[in-house]
Amino acid sequence: MSDEKKRGPVNHVEEIKKRKDGLDVLNDILRYSKEGFDAIDPDDADLFKWYGLYQQRPKDGYFMMRVRVPGGILTSKQLRKLGEIANTYGRGLADLTTRQTLQFHWLTIENVPAIFDELASVDMSTVGACGDIPRNVVGCGTAGLDKDEIIDPRPYIKAVNEALFNNRELSNLPRKFKISISGCNRGLTQPEINCVGFVGALKDGEAGFDLRVGGGLSTQPYIAQRLEVFVPADKVVDVAVRIAELFRDCGYRERRSHARLKYLVADWGVEKFRKELEDRLGYALPDAAPDFSEPRDMRIDQIGVHPQKQEGLSYLAVSVVVGRTNGGQLIGVAELAKKYADSEIRLTTGQNFLIPNIPNGNLEALQAGLEEIGFNTNPSELQKGAVTCTGIQFCNLAIAETKDYTAQLIRDLEQEVPLDEPLRIHVNGCPNSCGQHHIAEIGLVGGQTKVGNERVEAFSICLGGGLGGEATFADPVLRRIPSGEVKDHLVRILKAYKEQRQDGENFRWFCKRHTREQLAAMLQGDEVPAAVEA
Ligand code: SF4
Repeated sequence: MSDEKKRGPVNHVEEIKKRKDGLDVLNDILRYSKEGFDAIDPDDADLFKWYGLYQQRPKDGYFMMRVRVPGGILTSKQLRKLGEIANTYGRGLADLTTRQTLQFHWLTIENVPAIFDELASVDMSTVGACGDIPRNVVGCGTAGLDKDEIIDPRPYIKAVNEALFNNRELSNLPRKFKISISGCNRGLTQPEINCVGFVGALKDGEAGFDLRVGGGLSTQPYIAQRLEVFVPADKVVDVAVRIAELFRDCGYRERRSHARLKYLVADWGVEKFRKELEDRLGYALPDAAPDFSEPRDMRIDQIGVHPQKQEGLSYLAVSVVVGRTNGGQLIGVAELAKKYADSEIRLTTGQNFLIPNIPNGNLEALQAGLEEIGFNTNPSELQKGAVTCTGIQFCNLAIAETKDYTAQLIRDLEQEVPLDEPLRIHVNGCPNSCGQHHIAEIGLVGGQTKVGNERVEAFSICLGGGLGGEATFADPVLRRIPSGEVKDHLVRILKAYKEQRQDGENFRWFCKRHTREQLAAMLQGDEVPAAVEA
């Protein structure tokens, strides 16, 4: 089919964007804060996202607000302010996200200008945290700390953020646009599922970046493809901006569900994409380092204490149960980081946080302080790997509750089948994959099913996902299991894994070694059929 025929009439959001740029809705937000919720034009409400604002379920007057945190890096003063905002305006709630941002809930439109002012007082903003615009630039939580890092990504995260932030040339993209920048190849920034992933690489002794494009999850997941180029460090901003422009000009705008960069990359292929990019750059990029490779499995947040490359200093990564925290805890963490480290805190892609630059002599006191405010500094492997989306509590698209459900599920599994190795359990309230079920060893996707005459919440169980050099998405194995029965299914398969795993085999590769029918039998406690030869 020709490109013209593929392109039908543009969708409603495109019509709205033609009439008003998303960044121009600020004055309307300020006006509505005086006129009240009932005055809000639904088309303007769509554009509120450019300022990090979503109407919260059930659209009866409350908002969710996402705050942009480039690279997840915060000062103690900023974190304290976020805690105060949560307490003053958001019923104390604060959720950490997989893009190193922070979300408030229960905000009213009347309070939004004051919150913007409070954020601005600590040099923070919500601009571009949501909407069809470059989103928060993701970086490694361990940037600048890790002895194995190839290049410190922080200057590049900062520079790319500055080039994209509030940039009116890039405020009307076909859809959201996600960039990650990491200092090495071990996957903390999940380049495989970003629109653009810069991955620290060495070529002929020069530190720069390998480049992936076209990744993303949602209902149709794609692994980003390597462009087979080496991006010299001084070209990172140029490349990031040119790709954003390419997406703006060539991306699909007809169907929202088919507008992400991943579809353009899939249709064009990497050769055409590279050529178009180089034409726009005005120079050719060097070929990738021939020895570039990625570990088979990605690394996940390294929870706990780890020595830094700086002598005498450590970082402590702290697991936050399902990413949910509160204002009091944020203020507590801010104080502890100031007292026992160097006042810096970093949010991670695993919905956790990390305190860097702790003199080793302060570790014990810092851990005790964190325990006092409710963080378990020695959590189970199951807790470390749990991630959830917002779910039915606040999300308008949700079919199932996620946060409380997952916290309880983890507690139950810890009792019944304790594990001695990392395991990612990711839970979504619907198939949209904001909680990234595709990349987890165990991914649960919210839905509904009928039990007798009653409709109840249910989850489809997907198994065997993971990123890294051999990235694979989790396969759906059983569909719509009533939520109350999921735990027993998982206990059965995890017990089977513990009994039958091969030497050094993690749960992902155990799943990949079995057929879907065999995995279904293990989940259900049935006799496991023999594998059928292909
Ligand atoms: Fe909402 Fe679905 Fe995304 Fe969860 S995955 S936050 S339920 S849209």
